Amino acid sequence: MIFMFPEHRMKALTLSYDDGVEQDIRLMDILDRSGILATFNLNSGCFSPEGTVFPEGQVHRRLSEKGALSLYGTHAHHEVAVHGLCHAHPTDLSPADRLYEFSEDRRRLEALFGRIIRGAAYAYGQFDDETVETLRACGLVYARGVHSTHSFDIPRDFLRLQPTCHHDDPELFALWNTFVTTRSDRPQLFYLWGHSYEFEAHDNWQRMEDFCLTAGGHPDVWYCTNLQLYDYVDACRRVQKSFSHSLIHNPSALSVCFKDDQGKQHTVAPGETISL
Ligand SMILES: [Zn+2]
Repeated sequence: MIFMFPEHRMKALTLSYDDGVEQDIRLMDILDRSGILATFNLNSGCFSPEGTVFPEGQVHRRLSEKGALSLYGTHAHHEVAVHGLCHAHPTDLSPADRLYEFSEDRRRLEALFGRIIRGAAYAYGQFDDETVETLRACGLVYARGVHSTHSFDIPRDFLRLQPTCHHDDPELFALWNTFVTTRSDRPQLFYLWGHSYEFEAHDNWQRMEDFCLTAGGHPDVWYCTNLQLYDYVDACRRVQKSFSHSLIHNPSALSVCFKDDQGKQHTVAPGETISL
């Protein structure tokens, strides 16, 4: 059997944008016009003080707490995730400081948005085994680095996940074209990341408009947040099979789609057992 994404789709797209900057407002508008979902990774200890006037030409302009609440709070179809309380280099911190950096960011974001926060992006993409264990101890289930893989494989270890590419990658459109036009017998993921202030810094908002126009609206692509992806893949991995694979049980709270060895498609409802 081969797992498929919801509604028996074989491809998924997810985006991940860091730092909680003003330009996320414009990015979210572009995403919402194309039906693409994203995860926004925030540093709750770095919100700009209310009423901050930034120096002329400064492109990295963090939202205030109120601004963040009004943007991400009213666009709850997108995800909010941890990016470290103070955007510290995770591997430079002492164990105690590292624990505080991630647990306190999670606690503050949950208090602000009234949601359970379960994902993260490592500041500077930096992590090691200890950092991974710290995130696990904080109840975080996935976290992203910054190393482009140019791959469409589903991550094996979600606490060490790496993106397909950054939006400025010269291969972006070629990779997307390969992704949507190539038939695969395995589910495939296109994972894009970046910072929205870079569109202003590099004067290339049109690049993102073009990408979303191209990437949005495909009936065979599942548009999901990072956490939706994690939860669905986790549900697939938890499916129980009899030794002969004739009985399939789904113990999770999500419907799971797969095709059997004859290529026939099935959906197993939450808690359901089916026989093939
Ligand atoms: Zn960052």
